[in-house]
Amino acid sequence: MYVLTTDNGAISLKRGDITHETADAIVNAANSGLLGGGGVDGAIHRAGGPSILEECKLIREDQGKCPSGSAVVTGAGSLKAKFVIHAVGPIWSGGNRNEGPTLAAAYSKCLNLATEYSLASICFPSISTGAYRFPIEEAAKIALETCVSFMRGKATTLQDVRFVLFSDDDLAVYASRLEELSSTIKSPA
Ligand code: ADP
Repeated sequence: MYVLTTDNGAISLKRGDITHETADAIVNAANSGLLGGGGVDGAIHRAGGPSILEECKLIREDQGKCPSGSAVVTGAGSLKAKFVIHAVGPIWSGGNRNEGPTLAAAYSKCLNLATEYSLASICFPSISTGAYRFPIEEAAKIALETCVSFMRGKATTLQDVRFVLFSDDDLAVYASRLEELSSTIKSPA
């Protein structure tokens, strides 16, 4: 278990299947169409049941596609969570298309939505590093920096920010990035 403690709460890393987690919210790495897909998106819809897609369809009808860097909230069907936050990360296309800031914006949006909904715990997958091909070393740095700076600087109900990585290799990348951040961050006095 890898943990970084902040004034508000802990940011932790574990290996696992995010659909098995118990938390107030589970984040989905969705696509902007919001109507399901492969990877973690497919797994969440399969495990949570059809109500999640029904809610996504209503959001889609109401507000159209969800742009990358943003996110929307649905219930969590039969998952052990209250909500699914469907976040749309950027598709990697070489690094000169604002992919980094867009990825950071997707994480920030989830953290802000969780705070708006007064949630205490949230689980993230590694957004954009699967089918969207964002290099994981850089993505992990952006993901963790965004969460650490949010948990250190913002008034939030969140106390438990959990990254659930799907492979040992992904976990190792996130762990080394978290360790780098820990050494540059002073604990609260
Ligand atoms: P994206 O399109 O944003 O790249 P993917 O779902 O293709 O999203 O991949 C994002 C990450 O989620 C990848 O690292 C993938 O291995 C991981 N992943 C896939 N299924 C699960 C799952 N059930 N739990 C946690 N992570 C998962």
